[in-house]
Amino acid sequence: MSSEANPFESLREQVDDAAAVLETDPGVIERLKNPERVLETNLTFERDDGSLETVRAYRSQFNGDRGPYKGGIRYHPGVTRDEVKALSGWMAYKCAVVDVPYGGGKGGIAIDPADYSADELERITRAFATELRPMIGEDRDIPAPDVNTGQREMNWIKDTYETLENTTAPGVITGKAIDSGGSEGRVEATGRSVALSAREAFDWLGRDLSGATVAVQGYGNAGSVAAALLDDLGADVVAVSDSSGGIHDPDGFDPREVKAHKSETGSVTGYHGTDAITNDELLTLDVDCLVPAALENAVDGDLAADVRADLIVEAANGPLTPDADDVLADRGVHVVPDILANAGGVTVSYFEWVQNRQRFGWTEERVNEELERVITDAFDTLVDTYESNEVPNLRTAAYVVGIGRIVNAYDQAGNWP
Ligand code: GLU
Repeated sequence: MSSEANPFESLREQVDDAAAVLETDPGVIERLKNPERVLETNLTFERDDGSLETVRAYRSQFNGDRGPYKGGIRYHPGVTRDEVKALSGWMAYKCAVVDVPYGGGKGGIAIDPADYSADELERITRAFATELRPMIGEDRDIPAPDVNTGQREMNWIKDTYETLENTTAPGVITGKAIDSGGSEGRVEATGRSVALSAREAFDWLGRDLSGATVAVQGYGNAGSVAAALLDDLGADVVAVSDSSGGIHDPDGFDPREVKAHKSETGSVTGYHGTDAITNDELLTLDVDCLVPAALENAVDGDLAADVRADLIVEAANGPLTPDADDVLADRGVHVVPDILANAGGVTVSYFEWVQNRQRFGWTEERVNEELERVITDAFDTLVDTYESNEVPNLRTAAYVVGIGRIVNAYDQAGNWP
């Protein structure tokens, strides 16, 4: 059963856990537990029937000590101010853990996009881009896709910004379509870093990923690509799910065929030769590796007691509550945390931004090679930090790395004015 833990409180606990092993000024730690600023705005747009509707939207700029604020924009009915604040903090630590020169930000609109036509979504998106315009920019704050947003929304935001600013500035946003200044490899990047993280973790644990069983909760961009790439690495994907439910076949199946089935039918459920399971049943399957790739709080302390996977690799942001972390650490289940495992998305966003600034495109091969280097280096640093500090788990080690880098930048700049 999923928990109602407040993600912002979870983030603050995660920072406190790492602060306990760092000798950082408590005043600085308090700074690192709060966003620098949050925009809360109400967007009024025209429905297709001519009526007006107003929806709530947010952008949180968490920390800019290491570079421009960076992070996605999600469209989901569960978006709240606290959720966006937490997600912006996770972005700041994520960028620091993979040493990408950005701070952290996040935005969201509290809507279910399925309730609106494409024309309505364009008007909502352009209204939000207009509100965001004074606070974003290639060197200021760079949004990107997140839950229920993709190339289409990024292209609209880029166009709105460039039109209002009377300039070209493709680096104001990442995750664009290739012909609008996007990067090769960006769509697959989040799932790719999840698969690379699983490979590195199996290696660290002295286990073979080839033949290992994997369950993936959530089959959006992160989950479906992670499943396909884990299959390429020789793992057996035996269960996947989405918000409609899950499928299980102990002998495994082809995750790309399941993706095609979802594209045709709207869900993974009903894929031939599989048994129906619930999301909670999937999360407690006896598999070698569990990949939560949906939303926050998928696994709470109670559910964590029933998890039978040996390793968890977080594709979603914040899928485990702090209680779940405690239970899993006590049980010796390792978790590769979101702020490393899913950092491929923002890493290739960074490559996209570099290409935009240089007006020079990279090949997909180059993007994937550089991504692999960033993720494997970050994994090595994480493991070194875990093994040389008194920390309960890999997540706290990741925060030790991330906080250390942000605090260094803050100290080097000095506290001014
Ligand atoms: N939304 C993604 C994340 O949570 C990507 C952010 C980005 O590319 O800036 O990491």
